This record gives sequence, structure tokens and C-alpha cells, in this order.
Amino acid sequence: MHFFPYSSEMSPSSWNRDVSQTPSTAAPELDVIALGRRVRHLRKQAGLTLDDLSAAVGTAPSQLSLIENGKREPKLTLLQHLAGALNVSIDQLLGAEPPSRRAALEIELERYQRGPLYESLDLPKIRISSRLPLDVLEAQVGLLHELERKMNEQVATPEEARRANGELRAMMRERGNYFPEYEAEAQKVLKEVGYTAGPLSQHVIADIAAHLGFTLHHVGDLPHSTRSVTDLKNRRIYLTQSQRQDHDPRSVLLQALGHYVLGHETPKNYGDFLAQRVATNYFAAALLLPEQATVEFLQKAKAAKEIAVEDIRDAFAVSYETAAHRFTNLATKHLGITTHFQKTHQSGIIYKAYENDGVNFPQDHTGAIEGQPSCKAWTSRAVFDVPDKFSAYSQYTDTPSGTYWCTARTERSAAGEFSLSIGVPYQHVKWFRGRETTARATSNCPDPTCCKRPPAELTNQWAGNAWPSARAHSHLLAAMPPGAFPGVDETEVYSFLQAHSGS
Ligand SMILES: [Zn+2]
Repeated sequence: MHFFPYSSEMSPSSWNRDVSQTPSTAAPELDVIALGRRVRHLRKQAGLTLDDLSAAVGTAPSQLSLIENGKREPKLTLLQHLAGALNVSIDQLLGAEPPSRRAALEIELERYQRGPLYESLDLPKIRISSRLPLDVLEAQVGLLHELERKMNEQVATPEEARRANGELRAMMRERGNYFPEYEAEAQKVLKEVGYTAGPLSQHVIADIAAHLGFTLHHVGDLPHSTRSVTDLKNRRIYLTQSQRQDHDPRSVLLQALGHYVLGHETPKNYGDFLAQRVATNYFAAALLLPEQATVEFLQKAKAAKEIAVEDIRDAFAVSYETAAHRFTNLATKHLGITTHFQKTHQSGIIYKAYENDGVNFPQDHTGAIEGQPSCKAWTSRAVFDVPDKFSAYSQYTDTPSGTYWCTARTERSAAGEFSLSIGVPYQHVKWFRGRETTARATSNCPDPTCCKRPPAELTNQWAGNAWPSARAHSHLLAAMPPGAFPGVDETEVYSFLQAHSGS
């Protein structure tokens, strides 16, 4: 894998798993099947019977047979004896490389036959022995591999994608959206380039790239499906020359570096892709708003009962969205404040959401929040109707799960107008600027009579007499192109790298 395109696509709706580059089943620590096959292979190569070898290592033939069949993990002392008797090193015995093509196929077939896919087929198992012709082995493994690939393609539906997203969000909630491992990586990098305080300048970020051994190349022909492309072979990061307003160029570069620093490999499935996105976004934010400085800033604001997302934004020269999102990383861990975050399109559709304060986000049967319409009574919707676009809008909302105070702003981008909101349960509002607001609303969602269903008198008046022509929501219908990086045209990326690597 020699490149890392950073996709600009926000809401992939399907996913085709690429299993061609990875073994069908990830091996846990000690691969007992492979080990067993290797022991048997080496024993036969040495011309020893089961009895011979078991006598040589001082164990019962039945025990050795279990080990060779991959049904028992040998103790270390037995491993040492086996290595000695077979005249190989322990490393060779445990080595990841199987001794031959045939042994590799036998291991693969054994794995398949023990796995859930084979189980579901309800077919008899083939006895794997030296009498099984090599071409039969090849064909059997090839068929199972292809069957697995086809089935993965089928399960990789939008529903699968939404489930992966839901699982990831549950994990983030559990951890209060705080990830010490990414904080540590960011701190390490900042220390190494001698950063001390203040907003992270372009200059410091260029130093970080250089420190990590990358050169930066601003080009006019960056593949349009990407924000950046990293050439891992020549250690180059390609960025666009054009000034696009939607993304802070510092974030784009830091996210590209994040993939490298965090040791990411080509994502195996949609869940993997999402987890990497979360990790690199987090890493970039932890550099732009370093933990210690940001926490000190927030603790001062809390002591003065003046916490405001705008102040974080201004102090660290980041976007409101970045500041609001970073607040969720640090609020629970360092301030003891539970919170929720929402990015909502002007159409009412939620694009991003996080909560660990029990706020009742709308969700579908898979638990997905993104793509759902936000309650019309919520701050995230009400803010669109506020004429003053320069100040934050704050509101109390009474909901079935309690009263929340939320503050929101709108930001315009190429994809339209979005609201960004941060909210907290009532008991935490005392720490925030804007708590004196008199704006108050009631939300009964998820009760459909709250805002999802028209009021009865309007229904009586108009049901059957309205024929709206829907504006097509192409993003809801279009399937994402297959590939490890959803929405990224690999041919375009490879051609791009080919064209630039000579220069
Ligand atoms: Zn509602």
C-alpha cells in the first residue's frame, strides 16, 4: 500500500470490503493451525513418525497429534523441545511464513472449514491429508475465497455502514470521547518540534511534516475526490493549490500525517475506515488545540463561569466546528461535564452527532443518527431562524429525557448552511456564557406528534390534496463506488502519483 488519499466524501452509503489483500481470517496471537501444520510438515520432512517425534520430545503421541491438528497450543517448554528435535529455531517454528504453497493452502482450507462461512454452508468437511491433490486444494480454497468476497459485498449495504457507525459512536460515548493514546502521539510530535504555546502556525505544521520525513507539494491537479494524497514511497504529501474554504488546510495536512503517525493500513472494511477517520481527526485536533493548553484555558473559563466555544475558537485560531468538537474530547475527562455535539444541515438532517449526556437523538433501527432529521424544536434547528448570524444563539429545551441548554452557530460551506451546536444537561449550564437566555422550547420527540407528523387540523384540510414534487436527494440514493477508500478513484490517484513521482 503506497498511498493514502483522504476522501472528501462525508457520508458513504455502501461499502465493498476488499479482502484480496488480507487473509480470510485474522490470526490471533499464536496461530495454532499454522503451527500444527508446520510441525507436521517438518516432522515428515525429517522422516519421523508421530511416535518417533513424541518419544523425542517426551510427550504422548495423542498430545502431539492434537498439536499437529491445531487443536491444542503447546507449552513453551514443549515448543523448545520440538524445535530441538526438528532441528529448527523456535522462530522458524512460530514463523509467519508457511513452509510451502501446499502447506499454506492446507492451513487456509483448515481455517475456512472451521469458520462460520463453511458452517453456514452445511457441507461435509474435506479431510486434509497428503493424498488430497494440490489442484483440488487450490480450487477449494479459491472457491471459498471468492464466495467469502461475494458474500461480504452483499452484506456491505448502507445498513452495514450505519451499524459500523453506531458501534463506533457507542465506543466514543463509553470513553467520553477522550482518547489518551492520540493525545500522547500529538504531544510527542509537538514536543519534538519544540512547540510551546499559541495557535499552531502553518510554519510549525510544515516543521512537523519535515520532522516526520515528508515533503509538501502543492499541486493544481489533485484528484478531485481527495483532500490530500500521500506518496508513502517517496514520502511526499500532495495538497491542493486552490484556496477551498471548506477545510482548514492545516487540518487537511495534519490528518494526512495522522495516518502515518498512527500507523494506519488500508482499511479492511467500512468500520475500519470510519475508525481511522475518527483517529486522524482527533489527532489533528489534538495538535491544533493541544490538551494541556486547552484544558488550562477551559478550566479558567469554568472558574469564571464563562465557558464559550467562540473563545476556544478565537484562542486557538480554529473553526467553530473544530472548537466545538474538541470541547467534547476534553469536557467530560477534565471538566466533569457531560455534553452533546451536533452538526445539522439547513434541511434539518443531522450530519454529525455525539452525546454522552443522555440527550435523545433521533435514530433509525440500526442506531444511526446521521441522516435523521433533528427535532424542529431543538437549538440546532431554531438557530437557522435567528436573524443575528454573528452571535451564538442559546436556548433551553425541555425534552422527555430532561432539560438541556444548547448553544449554536451557523456556518456556510459549499454543501450549504450548517448549524453547529453544543449542549449540556441543565445541571451544567452554570459554567457557560449564554445561560441567561430566555429562549425556551419544548420537544416531545421521538413522539411523532412533536414535529414528524403534521397537526391533525392540517391533515384534515390537506391530506389527499397535495402533490409535492420532491427535490431528488441524490446523495441518499447513489451507491458509493467500491474500494478501500470510499469515493476515491484509485486509477486517478495512481496516475496522479505516477505523473508526479518523476518530477
Ligand atoms: Zn420534535
